[in-house]
Amino acid sequence: MAKQYYNFLNGKWTRPHSKVYFDNINPADTSDVVGRFPESDGEDVEKAVRAAEAAYDAWRLFPAPKKGEIMMRAGQLMMKNKEKLARLMTREMGKVLAETRGDVQEAIDMAFYVAGEGRRLTGETTTSERKNKFAMTMRIPIGVCGLITPWNFPMAIPSWKIFPALICGNTVVFKPAEDTPASACEFVKILTEAGLPNGVVNFVCGGPNTGELIVRHPRIKLISFTGSCEVGRFVGEHCGRTLKRCSLEMGGKNAQIVMADANMDLALEGALWGAFGTTGQRCTATSRVYIQRKVFPSFVRSFIRQAKKVRIGNGLKPNAQMGPLINAAQRERVHNYVVRGVKEGAKVECGGKFARGAGLGKGFFYQPTVFTNVKPIMTIVREEIFGPVVCLMSIKDLEDGLRQANDTAYGLSSAIYTGNVNSAMKAIRDLEAGITYINGPTIGAEVHLPFGGVKNTGNGHREAGRTALDIFSEWKSVFVDFSGRLQKAQIDTD
Ligand code: NAD
Repeated sequence: MAKQYYNFLNGKWTRPHSKVYFDNINPADTSDVVGRFPESDGEDVEKAVRAAEAAYDAWRLFPAPKKGEIMMRAGQLMMKNKEKLARLMTREMGKVLAETRGDVQEAIDMAFYVAGEGRRLTGETTTSERKNKFAMTMRIPIGVCGLITPWNFPMAIPSWKIFPALICGNTVVFKPAEDTPASACEFVKILTEAGLPNGVVNFVCGGPNTGELIVRHPRIKLISFTGSCEVGRFVGEHCGRTLKRCSLEMGGKNAQIVMADANMDLALEGALWGAFGTTGQRCTATSRVYIQRKVFPSFVRSFIRQAKKVRIGNGLKPNAQMGPLINAAQRERVHNYVVRGVKEGAKVECGGKFARGAGLGKGFFYQPTVFTNVKPIMTIVREEIFGPVVCLMSIKDLEDGLRQANDTAYGLSSAIYTGNVNSAMKAIRDLEAGITYINGPTIGAEVHLPFGGVKNTGNGHREAGRTALDIFSEWKSVFVDFSGRLQKAQIDTD
């Protein structure tokens, strides 16, 4: 019998009111049940909100540098337990160990980065129109925040939301994705061990229904959501109607441009890593590669040769380079896109099938898949597939590459490989994306820079960097009049 897990409410591991649990399954081996987790109902969410509300005033007033010290300790605990956390994460969601170590490292980086913010959280002092009057700005917290996260970065993404929310003085109701509650649970345990007071972070497990209960809860003041556009639209609509603050980080359809003057080996390596890293299940994954005509045939040949060599396997095995897809439905979805691509006239150069073979029989493995003969209107070019599927397309020149790269509803990440500084500068200016890499793949964010996208990828917010603080705080303008008389702005003339 698999281990049973609970919600974490007001500092206590608590059985769900719903009494309903779901199995969390290892996507590399479906006979391995990682644990049984609560499918939380309205009463569970209500208890979490009540706990977060009760903890809010004390936490809001707790000095920010002291909040930072708790985060520092959380970062140290994650460092100490990094290997254990990474192994659990691979077992739970499939990406290879090197990548899950990276995921934990990102949460550590975020802990240390935001801990430092505890001694900054700066506002501005400025001048006043009137004499003997002082003016400044300061950040104030918002209240109880509902944080809803996806499964592809089980610790990194929660850390991007939880640490900035807390440093600004908010309390939290956190719901991880139903495919990765075990990693989220370990993260919450670490926060508690680091000294976080009861009720500051409340953890409720569950799927879409639980998420919806959080979004609709009238006393949750802010929703920070990362996930698909489809769900993001619902979250945005509801928050729009109820005037709830909301930040949305959603899908991508990221392009890499390869100019004929680029270092081809580097461009090839970058495209392979961007396309097949995390089995293509990154919001920043490379799913379109635009290659200048002159070098197109040789690039395609080398790319296919390398794609066929990618070692698929259980991410815990040291030689595995690419793990499984997250679940059966996702593998079906990816395969349907491939079938659709073929139907619409694209050519599968390699892959396009469930991966079979020794050690793969019980997992959701899929072959690295490369399409050529792709037209811009095809579904595989337009929609996010979220799997190891990449389209290779030829371009005439830089302008053609930029135009095609921008011809998408999304705008998260982008990359160009070129040896020409003028091309690089034009790409930096003209690529419509929240992130642009020069001579690097579309994946590889660092926590101290803003992360997020334009167009349908987001709603104007940026996680990570100092910009994350803008999601989780409001600005207050403060005037201190020490003139001892009524001074009327815009009216008095002396
Ligand atoms: P998803 O939208 O299905 O689920 C995300 C979260 O929302 C989960 O916790 C889920 O339980 C919850 N949810 C589902 N329906 C809900 C509802 N009606 N109300 C409230 N919550 C609900 O996404 P996913 O499959 O977990 O993740 C993949 C998607 O996430 C991809 O589109 C990917 O591009 C995107 N993503 C974006 C970023 C980014 O920063 N831009 C990062 C990682 C992943």
